[in-house]
Amino acid sequence: MSAKFWRSLLVRTALGVVGISALIGGLVMLSAATEARKVANSEVARRLTELVDTVQNTTSIACFVGDKQLAAELAQGLLRNSEVALVVIRAEGQILAKVGRMSFSDDADELPLGPTHPIVRPVYSPFDATRQIGEITLIPDAQRIGQIVRDEGERIYLILAIQLIAVAAAAVASVLYLIVRPIQRMSDELHRLDATAGQLLPVPVGHERNELGRLAGDINDLAGRLVSTLEDEHALRLQREVDERKFRAIFDNAESGILLTDGSGEVISFNPSFLRLCGLTEGQAPASLKALAWQHGDELLGLIHECADSGRALGGDFLLELADGESRWLSFSFGAVGGGQIQGVVIDVTARKTEEVAARLLAVTDSLTGLGNRAALEQHLGELMGVSGAGFVMLLLDIDGFRRVNESLGLVAGDEVLRQSAYRLRGHLPGAWLARVGADEFAAVLPPGAEADSAAFTALVEAMALPFELHEQPLFLGASIGLVRYPADGTDIPGLLRNADLALERVRREGGQGFRCFEPGMAEQAERRRRMEKDLRLAVQQNELQLYYQPIIDLKENRLAGAEALIRWRHPEQGMISPDVFIPLAEESGMIRDIGLWVLNEASTQLAAWRGAGMDMYVSVNVSVKQIPDDLPAQVVLDTTRSHGIEPDHIALEITEGVLMSDVSHGLAWLESLNQAGFRLYLDDFGTGYSSLSYLKRFPMDTVKVDKSFVRDMSADNNDRALVGAIVMMAKGLGLSTVAEGVETDDQLLLLKALSCRYAQGYLFSKPVPAAEFPALRARINGELALASGM
Ligand code: C2E
Ligand code: CA
Ligand code: CA
Repeated sequence: MSAKFWRSLLVRTALGVVGISALIGGLVMLSAATEARKVANSEVARRLTELVDTVQNTTSIACFVGDKQLAAELAQGLLRNSEVALVVIRAEGQILAKVGRMSFSDDADELPLGPTHPIVRPVYSPFDATRQIGEITLIPDAQRIGQIVRDEGERIYLILAIQLIAVAAAAVASVLYLIVRPIQRMSDELHRLDATAGQLLPVPVGHERNELGRLAGDINDLAGRLVSTLEDEHALRLQREVDERKFRAIFDNAESGILLTDGSGEVISFNPSFLRLCGLTEGQAPASLKALAWQHGDELLGLIHECADSGRALGGDFLLELADGESRWLSFSFGAVGGGQIQGVVIDVTARKTEEVAARLLAVTDSLTGLGNRAALEQHLGELMGVSGAGFVMLLLDIDGFRRVNESLGLVAGDEVLRQSAYRLRGHLPGAWLARVGADEFAAVLPPGAEADSAAFTALVEAMALPFELHEQPLFLGASIGLVRYPADGTDIPGLLRNADLALERVRREGGQGFRCFEPGMAEQAERRRRMEKDLRLAVQQNELQLYYQPIIDLKENRLAGAEALIRWRHPEQGMISPDVFIPLAEESGMIRDIGLWVLNEASTQLAAWRGAGMDMYVSVNVSVKQIPDDLPAQVVLDTTRSHGIEPDHIALEITEGVLMSDVSHGLAWLESLNQAGFRLYLDDFGTGYSSLSYLKRFPMDTVKVDKSFVRDMSADNNDRALVGAIVMMAKGLGLSTVAEGVETDDQLLLLKALSCRYAQGYLFSKPVPAAEFPALRARINGELALASGM
């Protein structure tokens, strides 16, 4: 028999069942045989006892009479029973009969002892049932009994054997039908099963709810999982193949060059684009990157080494000289791919590099003037500061009144002014590095070591004051210049620029048209100004402003004609602050609007009171150029004075010639509407600016105020005297009156009278006084004048 047979479940089950049954059967039979023997013995004893009982009476008689013959017959009769081996009958201690199938001695007491017990029954007297007269002894036939027991045992063995066979057969059959067959069927099905086609192992019929059913389910689950794993694996493999093909395609068709090198720059593989980018054809494939004409080949190889050593991704741009003499910027990105190999991706960045250079240039160039811009200035300063020990001078130049050029003449005119300014700068600062750093702000850095030459700066300021030639008319501007020295005035760029700006600011505040070197106190002064600006804002709200009045004398009629209203600021801590200090501040900060409105209103109120009290006079009010036209619209002037019931010709508006110069169209319209409304218009500080009298013809002015600087020097300087005389005469020719300002001496007064100047104003008559003091002052002056004229 084959080993397979012995391993089969069926055979093993059968063997197991038979083995266990045989073991149990053996034990059962063993005990059954003992039991059978016991039963047989007791059965024999019972039967023999019954046998003795049947002969009881006869035996009783035989014993009573001692009849040996009868006893022997009796014993013979008993012996006829096959189970009896020996019969002994005793009476009064004597053996009456002793008959047996076996040989034995006649000795009464000697009885054969076998496996069976003898049956001894007492024999009683036939007349007295209580008196024993003898006894009868039966010895069972041991052989016979053994035979019976044997027969019985064989029967039991037979039954057991039959049982055993039946149990084993039943066990085998159930194993066969319940387990082996279904398993075999499942196994066959499993062989035929195509799980990938979605087939399922059928559950054997009738086993749906037992272990086999579960096993089938488990097998189906497992198969399902296996199938899905297989499918995944398959999809993955497919994807990998696709990827690989794609990668190949990418590699071959990539725009970018792709190459694989070892750590020393030897080329292992590359794609067609790499060749193209290197300007090579197929036959010229390079074995090493070293073989190509790089501008910084060492750096390129260094990059590859580093990438191989550190495993980091690195990159850089390198210039490659091509065979045709052209050159090309290639950008490399390297990454380690394992095994000491480096993968490089290469793209052509020539266009970008060229653009970068252009953009870098553009980013630091002012497109309007072609000079550097602010970024360029900072870069240039940084470079100079980097050179140790190199001191240099930097200046910031600001065009005075440029904003108005842009506003009134337009951006094109503004641009032209800037271009011409750049040209003048270049001409006057040869060798200097120039930039335009703000709308109308230029910077010049003198070559290191060059000294700040005052004469050169003065010449520059003068050059900037020359008229700018625009399409229509010459335009007079000017320039303010702030100077700093490196490293004395600042050791870093922001500090240096800030200090130059402070110096420039100072010039601008002083009226422009000049230059100044930075001084350490300037920062502090600027700070003070900021504080004052804050205080001024409060002053307007807290009524710290006040108007003083200074008489204006009519020299022809010898009487007080009017008064100029002059503003005062009584600072709670600093005392009286001069308008020369805070008016420019108000102009710069825009506060001039509120202050101007307040002045007009205050002066109107005062004049209305005085005129109401019978004082026949006018008041002149200073109007800052900054207020014209928006901060003090003509209509507002009209409304304010009218609200106080004042006639327009009792108010004079003093305007400096700046209004005529900077903002011609707006200024002119403003002047004309006020003139039409009947206000008097005074041209203040005449002679300090650049306007000529003939130029005045275009403006509807009434009166010219000759600046006090001319009046002051009149007595000493013949030129000034002549100038004042010329102004008076020419003004008269234009139908204008003149007021001489700053008249301090009788001398000056006499000269002015001689020159037919109509009006005079100055300390000679009075300083400006508070309104409360004015009526008395007026009365005194008028009295004195009347007295003098009467003389
Ligand atoms: P301004 O309009 O030229 O005023 C004349 C200045 O000369 C006044 O200075 C006056 O006190 C001063 N002064 C008068 N007589 C003499 C004299 O005989 N000798 C000398 N040395 N000076 C004399 P103040 O009051 O300090 O005003 C200075 C400037 O402030 C004014 O110059 C004017 O431009 C401006 N200002 C004054 N009040 C106002 C105002 O209400 N609004 C505006 N926008 N500016 C004002
Ligand atoms: Ca004035
Ligand atoms: Ca003046």
